[in-house]
Amino acid sequence: MTPGQHGGTDDGVLERDDHTCRRCGTTADEDPRGLRRYPVGEPALDGPVHESALVTVCSGCYDALCEPPSGEGVTDAATLFDHVKTTTEREGVTVSAVAAFASLVTGVPDAIESADDPDTDSIGEIGAEYRQARREVLLAIDSVDASLEPLHDVDHDALEPSVADALGEFTGTTTKLQSELRGIVALGETVVAGLDRCPGCFDPLVPGNDRCAVCGLEPRDTSDWEDADGTVAFESLYDAINETLQTASNTTEALTERTTAVAEQLRDA
Ligand SMILES: [Zn+2]
Ligand SMILES: [Zn+2]
Repeated sequence: MTPGQHGGTDDGVLERDDHTCRRCGTTADEDPRGLRRYPVGEPALDGPVHESALVTVCSGCYDALCEPPSGEGVTDAATLFDHVKTTTEREGVTVSAVAAFASLVTGVPDAIESADDPDTDSIGEIGAEYRQARREVLLAIDSVDASLEPLHDVDHDALEPSVADALGEFTGTTTKLQSELRGIVALGETVVAGLDRCPGCFDPLVPGNDRCAVCGLEPRDTSDWEDADGTVAFESLYDAINETLQTASNTTEALTERTTAVAEQLRDA
């Protein structure tokens, strides 16, 4: 991804997002270089990215996401702690966004069912809420990945062994939590796929298509969650979402301890 690739405003993404960075709240007036559109998820590689997979971010956040600073050669305690602190803060935002996404998505099947006419505005509203929650969660997950990048580059041999150990535990726990959070998002997308809707843009899926005809996203495989009659067992999916949320909550607690341990090691270093 090169900066500027998604710089246009032709599809109303910025307007939809109130001309405000969805990562830090910077508005168009406050961003001298101009707001950008950042792609989330796995949109089709050819052709323009569908608006359901584009999020408004400010130019600073765009750079932080697409070109995070390198951690190569960094041994300085203050800089290392800064990266750890940013990552922990970003992970806090992400955990909340995932919990919100999970709560929203587990209500979608009932919400769809109680909307009497499939073409009513209420379905449109459910779709808009779902797309927004999904974008926020994917953006938050990418933000943590970006703030982890410099920590992955750090040469552990150049650090005090106790600092290197504490840092290794911290990045390991964050990486584990990231994978659990991604798992919850994938399960949530499977709920939507189980409703025969695209997990990206929420449009009804055309059976037999390799990719969504609207946004180009590949469909999610629901076969692991189907009953003998081929219908998706939503209750099992909800159980899996809740179990993974519980696991992620334990990992979040462990991460808090790891953060404290790194802080103590860096202070003594
Ligand atoms: Zn921003
Ligand atoms: Zn789609």
